[in-house]
Amino acid sequence: MKKITIAIDGYSSCGKSTMAKDLARQIGYIYIDSGAMYRSVTLYCLDHGLFKGKEIQTEALKEVLPSLQITFKLDPETKKPVTYLNGEEVESRIRSLEVSNHVSLIAALPFVREELVRQQQAMGREKGIVMDGRDIQTVVFPDAELKIFVIASAEVRAQRRYDELKAKGQEASYEDILKNVKERDYLDEHREVSPLKKADDAIVLDNSDMTIDEQNAWLMEQFNKVVND
Ligand code: C5P
Repeated sequence: MKKITIAIDGYSSCGKSTMAKDLARQIGYIYIDSGAMYRSVTLYCLDHGLFKGKEIQTEALKEVLPSLQITFKLDPETKKPVTYLNGEEVESRIRSLEVSNHVSLIAALPFVREELVRQQQAMGREKGIVMDGRDIQTVVFPDAELKIFVIASAEVRAQRRYDELKAKGQEASYEDILKNVKERDYLDEHREVSPLKKADDAIVLDNSDMTIDEQNAWLMEQFNKVVND
């Protein structure tokens, strides 16, 4: 069976990662969460005082960025990918609301995008990869054989993130999350460099009223169509 590249983009908290992860596991592909890479850089900046309020110390970040090591390992028990920053497990810390509130600022910096896109393209050189994010189908892998653009209402997405945080025992307010979701949508769509945008040849999936099983089945169908073509 031919190996392909699968690019899944869409708004924050619309279930991209869940569906991308499940598909990769089912078909034996590598899964990369590109958002986790932007989140890791953001966490580094927060931990090392590179934010002064919403201002970023860009010169200091430029200097350190090439030496930041962002890697993924599969948790042997859950079989889910876990993010490491410079050898330290950061999976839960990069999902905090503090990181969510700062990540769009980091993701808008051209030099950060350039470096992370370079790393993402290197990871996908051999194909057999599912990557999700905002610019995967337009910038990282414009030649991907399967491109999916996922949408869902802001309220549905905020509720999902709220449930996720609660399930992990983290404090959360639905109103704060909804505000964050809307702010990130705006920043992601309106930034100058690589704004969130559907590729012309992408298939749109509105999963507002779909269960996880339904969306997994739908995605598998799209994958089979392409590989059996
Ligand atoms: O997907 P997730 O919500 O974890 O991504 C976090 C943030 O990283 C997004 O809000 C967006 O600003 C940024 N991002 C990006 N390009 C990507 C993936 C994520 O700009 N390919």
